[in-house]
Amino acid sequence: MEGLHNCMACPRGCGADRTRGQRGYCGADSTVWVARAALHHWEEPPISGTRGSGAVFFAHCALGCVFCQNRQISRRADVGKPVTAERLAGIFLELEAQGAHNINLVTGSHYAPQLVRPLRLAREQGLAVPVVWNSSGYETADTLRLLDGLVNIYLPDYKYHSSYYAARYSHAADYPETAQEAITEMVRQAGAPRYVADGLLQKGVIVRHLMLPGLGGDTSQVLRSIAERWGGCVLVSLLRQYTPVGTSGFPELNRRISDEEYQEAVEQMQQLGLSGFIQDSESISESFIPSFSGEGV
Ligand code: SF4
Repeated sequence: MEGLHNCMACPRGCGADRTRGQRGYCGADSTVWVARAALHHWEEPPISGTRGSGAVFFAHCALGCVFCQNRQISRRADVGKPVTAERLAGIFLELEAQGAHNINLVTGSHYAPQLVRPLRLAREQGLAVPVVWNSSGYETADTLRLLDGLVNIYLPDYKYHSSYYAARYSHAADYPETAQEAITEMVRQAGAPRYVADGLLQKGVIVRHLMLPGLGGDTSQVLRSIAERWGGCVLVSLLRQYTPVGTSGFPELNRRISDEEYQEAVEQMQQLGLSGFIQDSESISESFIPSFSGEGV
């Protein structure tokens, strides 16, 4: 497949020849692995709605954060089942038939070149619900342009403003400027948020920020950056659900977010005039992490 011989699909640009079975930094070769495809009720309200979002979780990841909440599927091992373009299009249609309000592609950036065809096939076969691109924010504008016209809602993370933290926790010092360029491209494609009558999002960008313990200053910079760059063109989802997982080498990350840390960020979000979503303290349950055994694939 074009783009996979000398892979530059993500900002790592590692050049792996995935068509020959080479695996790049992300751990993926040319085969698309899906770990789970099921209705998911834990996204923001205008994404989950009442019936759930049709979440398709892809194996592997180009970022690899030390605190990854989905580490079961984001590391190098293949998890779930391999799928063809035709089967993936079928999965999208099955999720829609189950009542999904949208098709929610979770961490698919390293598979972006391979996702164009199944998205087109599904539309040709009648897929009517919006497609959500649920990503780490660590992606190139060139790769995102492959999705122009195929994705309706972008749901990127904006994890760090500081390249120091980006390097320390995600091995990607270039994360801040890369995510800024990526989100700018997403806003160009999707435009301002638009809802349908039942309160579901039909198009637009929701920028997520997962707060990390002790990084309140960086959160403040992220929020300020969102307000300055995209202002009222995006919604903001301020997440407090961080749960320490596998962070033994990073003792500073070995706790949850305090009420005070979160409240301070919520107040700043309001002062900056940012619209979006905040979480109550019940949202920090580990029930957000589903099982990944190939269900629905
Ligand atoms: S998507 Fe994977 S193989 Fe391609 S450049 Fe990124 S890390 Fe390398």
